[in-house]
Amino acid sequence: MPTLRPLIAPTLADAPTAAEPVPAGEQSGDQAVARRIADPQKFKVSVGPSPIDGQGAFAAEPIPARAKIGEVRGEFVDMKQARARAREAERLTGRIFMVAISDKRAVDATSSSDPLRFTNHACNPNAVLKVQQGRVAFYALDDIAAGQEITVRYGATHHAGRLRCACGAPQCQGTL
Ligand SMILES: [Zn+2]
Repeated sequence: MPTLRPLIAPTLADAPTAAEPVPAGEQSGDQAVARRIADPQKFKVSVGPSPIDGQGAFAAEPIPARAKIGEVRGEFVDMKQARARAREAERLTGRIFMVAISDKRAVDATSSSDPLRFTNHACNPNAVLKVQQGRVAFYALDDIAAGQEITVRYGATHHAGRLRCACGAPQCQGTL
């Protein structure tokens, strides 16, 4: 089964306000790729087969509640490009790694090596995705044991409820 990576939209509370800050390391132009010297990965995360969907991100060491797990970096694209790329990727590979960071821009993590780009959606997640000044960061909501899959609630996706959720939670909403 192909991994389907929806376009993730941040909640309003997470979205940058007022003048949108330019992330550190972002170059001008549409092909700009964020590069940072400091590794934003705070805890070891591995990628492996997920019971939820395709590949998933798994804690490779215990992660305490509220800790920052890491970030997903990628190429900054405007929303028109993001939607076009998401449609194309869905058609070609079924794998979409796109996170909206505001109502204008998104991060395309297709070429990223950051393991958290494989984070699956769950209706009862153990982590949360926060967009902070254009950076896509993941924080633990609960203590996460080594070997446990890391999940977040995607929020609105470009699937608009057409994709079945297989997170297995008793309170699963059924769709993405
Ligand atoms: Zn679910």
